[in-house]
Amino acid sequence: MYSPVVGLEIHLQVKTNSKMFCRCSSQYFESEPNSHVCPVCFGLPGALPIPNKEAFNKALRLAVALNCTINQETKFDRKNYFYPDLPKGYQISQYDQPIGENGYVEIEVMGDSRRIRLQRIHLEEDTAKSLHSENDDTLIDYNKSGVPLIEIVTYPDFESIEEVILFAKRLKQIVKYLDISDAEMQKGQMRFELNISVKPDTMPAGQLPDYKVEVKNIGSISVLEKVLNFEVKRQTELLEKGEKIKPQTRGLKGMTGETLFQRGKETSDDYRYFPEPDIPPIRIESSQIEEIKNNLVELPHERKQRYMELGLEGEQADIFVEDKQKGDWFDEFIKLTEIKEEIKEAAKWIVGEISGHLEKRDHSILEMKLSNTDLLELVRQMQEKTISGTIAKDVINTIFEEGGSAKVIIESKGLTQITDSSFVADVAQKVINENPKLVSDFAKNPNVIKALVGQVMRQTQGKVNPKIAEEELQKLLQVSE
Ligand SMILES: [Zn+2]
Repeated sequence: MYSPVVGLEIHLQVKTNSKMFCRCSSQYFESEPNSHVCPVCFGLPGALPIPNKEAFNKALRLAVALNCTINQETKFDRKNYFYPDLPKGYQISQYDQPIGENGYVEIEVMGDSRRIRLQRIHLEEDTAKSLHSENDDTLIDYNKSGVPLIEIVTYPDFESIEEVILFAKRLKQIVKYLDISDAEMQKGQMRFELNISVKPDTMPAGQLPDYKVEVKNIGSISVLEKVLNFEVKRQTELLEKGEKIKPQTRGLKGMTGETLFQRGKETSDDYRYFPEPDIPPIRIESSQIEEIKNNLVELPHERKQRYMELGLEGEQADIFVEDKQKGDWFDEFIKLTEIKEEIKEAAKWIVGEISGHLEKRDHSILEMKLSNTDLLELVRQMQEKTISGTIAKDVINTIFEEGGSAKVIIESKGLTQITDSSFVADVAQKVINENPKLVSDFAKNPNVIKALVGQVMRQTQGKVNPKIAEEELQKLLQVSE
């Protein structure tokens, strides 16, 4: 048997107004090609780069949030390679003094917490976009060239495909929570590069296979998952046939997850890095790191932990963590009450009934007419048994359709549940008198009581608590036997 060994490199476009080293706008999506360019990002001779402070601060904030050791002396370096997407002939990146090193991201795998270690986080500039036309020409759009990019490199710590996917999703949440990147994959704002090999289960822990396969430019988490499945299967089959796998770079064949051989990788690339002479080294003060630490927003795993402590189920908590607006709305609700039962019940309704309405209407939770206080009113009335769950659903539906307040709707429509047992007993007696067939069936099969309860509910438009209805029916049926 074989299991995967995986390391990831993640590229994230940083959310900034301007590019990494010039004042061109970095909002290039759907712009006219080559309309966001200047001598600096075109790489014209004599143009001088000036680092973007906002991008630097965001990369630093991410490094702190991901538990990295911060290199207080950091610098930029030139990574030399010749390719048309970089007109300078080099990319400004960070080599031996990246902003952060040795961090980690915590993920939960089947209820257990696991740490995926990060080798480094550094800042660099994105490259231009090559457009290959039908007649084999290549056109280049430099709008993307120079957009700030954070690169995150993990250790080969992933031991299953599930772990990689959980990590990718968690990282995406974190950068969105920290407002570092919108991480919109369809816009290329978050991209993955995969290093993958498989190792026989007989290989001792900590030992790695003597090869790895690199797959670049994976633009979505679902494709990432497909590629992982494809490569694990492909490599396992080769090894089982007794073949040896050589280090190589593979490309994607469409969105299917299939990969194609691109080139062998016998030696490591030589980029002849050297310090960028036009940008002086940058000093990060300890006070700056402290300030960032003290002002970090609550991160996804902390938020999940908080919800779990309130008694939510894991899957409910995940929904509020993943959908930040829903989580924020729920947090506003939590401010209204300290009673855990009410909080748990509200979570159930948001995740269930309310989310159903939102999906049906394709609305975000911020657009809906139901307020936090409406939901609290409904939850309280249900717990006090003045309304049933069915009535609560009706009220929610009415608010979605027409607006209004829960309390007013319940009162004006007379929806309050009947808890007066002598009234319920009267209705129950009526139901017994009108349904002799059901009553005789009940003598043979006690489950028939449900049908009788249903009749009571129908006669009272669902305003009776079914439990009380059943109690009264049981009493009367015992007597009549
Ligand atoms: Zn520019």
